[in-house]
Amino acid sequence: MSLDAFFSPRSVAVIGASRTPGKVGYEIVTNLRDGGFEGAIYPVNPKADEIEGIRCYPDLASLADKPDLAVITVPVPFVAEAMQQCAGAGVKAAIIITAGFKEVGEEGAALERQVVEVARRNHIRVLGPNCLGVIAPSSKLNASFGDAMPTVGGIGYVSQSGALLAAILDLAQRSGIGFSKLVSIGNKADVDELDIIRALGADPDTHVIAGYLESIGNGNDFVREAEQISHHTPIVLLKAGATEAGAKAASSHTGSMVGSEAVYESAFRRAGVIRCASLTQQFDIAQAFAYQPLPSGPAVAVITNAGGAGILAADAIERAGLTFARLDDATIAALGGQLPAAANIHNPIDVLGDALADRYEFALDVALSDRHVDVALVMLTPQAMTQSRETAEAVVRVCRGHGDKPVLASFMGADLVADANTVLRNGRVPPYDCPEEAVEAIRAMVDHVHWRNRPQRVVKMFPVNRHRVERIVERHLRRNEREVGEMESKEILEAYGFRTPRGAIATTADQAASIADQIGYPIVMKIWSPDILHKSDVGGVRVGLNGPQEVRDAFDLMMYRIPQKMPEANILGVLVQEMVRTGQEVILGMQRDAQFGPLMMFGMGGIFVEVLKDVSFYLAPLTADEARQMLTSTRTWNMLKGARGREGVDIDAIAEALQRLSQLVTEFPQIQEMDINPFVVGPPGFSPIAVDARISIEKV
Ligand code: ADP
Ligand code: MG
Repeated sequence: MSLDAFFSPRSVAVIGASRTPGKVGYEIVTNLRDGGFEGAIYPVNPKADEIEGIRCYPDLASLADKPDLAVITVPVPFVAEAMQQCAGAGVKAAIIITAGFKEVGEEGAALERQVVEVARRNHIRVLGPNCLGVIAPSSKLNASFGDAMPTVGGIGYVSQSGALLAAILDLAQRSGIGFSKLVSIGNKADVDELDIIRALGADPDTHVIAGYLESIGNGNDFVREAEQISHHTPIVLLKAGATEAGAKAASSHTGSMVGSEAVYESAFRRAGVIRCASLTQQFDIAQAFAYQPLPSGPAVAVITNAGGAGILAADAIERAGLTFARLDDATIAALGGQLPAAANIHNPIDVLGDALADRYEFALDVALSDRHVDVALVMLTPQAMTQSRETAEAVVRVCRGHGDKPVLASFMGADLVADANTVLRNGRVPPYDCPEEAVEAIRAMVDHVHWRNRPQRVVKMFPVNRHRVERIVERHLRRNEREVGEMESKEILEAYGFRTPRGAIATTADQAASIADQIGYPIVMKIWSPDILHKSDVGGVRVGLNGPQEVRDAFDLMMYRIPQKMPEANILGVLVQEMVRTGQEVILGMQRDAQFGPLMMFGMGGIFVEVLKDVSFYLAPLTADEARQMLTSTRTWNMLKGARGREGVDIDAIAEALQRLSQLVTEFPQIQEMDINPFVVGPPGFSPIAVDARISIEKV
C-alpha cells in the first residue's frame, strides 16, 4: 500500500490538538500551519472551539471531510479509541506521536498490538508510536513536533530516533542542507524502515536516502530490496546497536568471532549500502550524492590557491585509494599559457595565493574538460587578495557547464568563507570544512560506482549428496543432539565434495595401534568425546606419532589424563587419523544470524584464530567473486599468496570450498554454526583437506 497519505495528504486531522503552547498537540497544529501546508487542517479537541484561529472539532465524526492523514497525540489510554475514530472516518494513514508503548514494557507492547490490529483491519497505515512525525518540505507538510521546516533538497531521511531527527533538523537549519522528506519511525509497529526506504526509493524528489537505524526488522528482505534501490538511489546509513544473534553464546570459533558488526558490514556490502561512522560524515556523503553526478572513475584533479592545502588533499586522496588525475598535455599547455609562471600547472593545480575568481574559473574549466579527470576538488584559503564569494560563484558557473562530472569544494576557514559556502551550497556544489571530508565523500561515490558496475551475481551450484547429509542431520535431531562431532561432520563435508583425512575410532590401545599400522606412520591421535569441543585444550591431540608403541603410550596417557581434567566428559575412545604433512592451515566457518541468515567466515586457521582475529565475513550464498574477495581481504592472504620464495596456495581451490560450504548451509537451514579448522591448503595441484570440523544443528 502506498505511503502517499503520509507525505502529500490533502487534509490532516490532529487528534489531541491543544490550546496550550509547548504541548505536543499545540505544536503540531502550529507547525502544520507555519510550514505553509496548503490542505485543510482539522484540530480535534472536544473542549476547544478553535486553536490559534483554526476551527476545532469535538471528534472526527463531526467532520464533513475524510482526512487523509491523522496525527494522534492523545495520552496512551486514549490512543486505541482515537484509532477507532480514524477507522470510522475513513482515514488512510495515522501518525502516533504518543509514547508509552512497546518501549516501556509488556503492557505497552500489548496495547501497541491492539492499536495496530484496529488499524490493519481498517486498512490504515500507522507510523510510530513514539515518534516525532513526518516532515515533507516538498509538499510543505510539517506533521511533526520538530518546529523547523528545512529547505527543499534531495536527501530523504528516515530515523529510528525522534530525538536524533530533532538534532538533524537543527543542524540542517544552520547549514542550509535541504531535504525531500524526513520520517521518524519510532517503534515501527506497522510502517518500518524498509517501507520508508522503499517509498523514498520510488520518490522522484529523493536523490539519496539517508537514515539512522538501531535495528533492522527483516534482514533478508532488507538486503534484497536495498540492493535493488541502491542501483538508482544511494542509501547512506548510520547504524547503531547490536543484533540479538550477537548476544547468543557461541560455541564455534566462527561464532565467537562474528559479532553484530560483521553481520551488518556484510549485509550492507551486499546491498551496496554506504555505512557512515558519524552524523557529520553522513551529511558530507549524502550531500555529494544529492547534488552532484556520479564520477566515472577515481581520478581527482585538485585546484588550490595554497600549496599546503594541496598537500593535505593529496595525502587524503592517496589514503583513500583514489588517484591523482594525470593531466593531458593539451591541458597542461592551456594552463601554462594563461597562469602565471610560478603557478603549478600539474595536478594539484596551484593558481597561487593572489588568484582572483577569474583564475579559478579558467583553471577549473580547463581541468574539467580533460578526459583524464573524473572529479574536481576546488580548494581555497582566504588570503589577502582572495575573492571567496566571487570564486564560489565562478565555481558554480563552471560546474553548471560540466554537468557530467562531480565538483566538490573545500574553502577552508570560518567567517571569511561563510558567504562563499552559502553560494556553493545554493549552487549545488557541496562545501566541506577540510579536504579530508571532501575526499571521504569522493571515495564513497567512487566505491558506489564500483559497486553498481560489479558483475551480475551468479551463484554456482555443485553436484552434491544431499541425502547423505539429511540422514545425519535427522538422526541427530531425533536424538536431540545439537553437536555433530568430528567424524560425522566430515561425513557431511565429504557429501559436499570435501576431502578429509583417513581415520577410524579405536577404544583400546591395541586397536589404535592396529589402525595406525594400516594407515601408515606418522599418525595423529585425537580424543573422541561428544563433550570435548576443543580437543587441544585438554591435551586431546597428538600429532606425529611414529610407531605402534608410541600410539599405545599416547592412548594410555590420554585415557589417564583427560578424565582427570574433565571428569564429566563421556570419553568414547580415540580417533586415529592420517597425518597431513604439507600445506598451511586456514579456517572456513559459518554462523547463522537470526536476521540475515548464514554468514560465512574465512581466516587464518589453527589454534590461534581468536588471538589473531584475521578473518573476513560475507553473507551466503557466495559467488565465485565474493569467495575470492573473502580470501584477498585478509592479511593472511599476503602470506598465502606466496612470499619470500614460497609458492602461493591455490586460491581457486579455497574459493571453491567456500562456495561449497555456502551451498551446504543454504540447503540445510538446520546448520546453525560450523567450523572447518584447520582446513589445510597447498599450492596448485594439492587438493585441500578438512582436518578438523564441527557442526551445530537445530530443529527449524
Ligand atoms: P581441536 O581444534 O579440537 O583442538 P584439531 O583436530 O583441529 O583439534 O587439532 C589441533 C591441531 O592439530 C590442528 O590445528 C592441526 O595443526 C593439528 N592436526 C590435527 N589433526 C591433524 C592431521 N590429521 N594432520 C596434521 N595435523 C593435524
Ligand atoms: Mg580444530
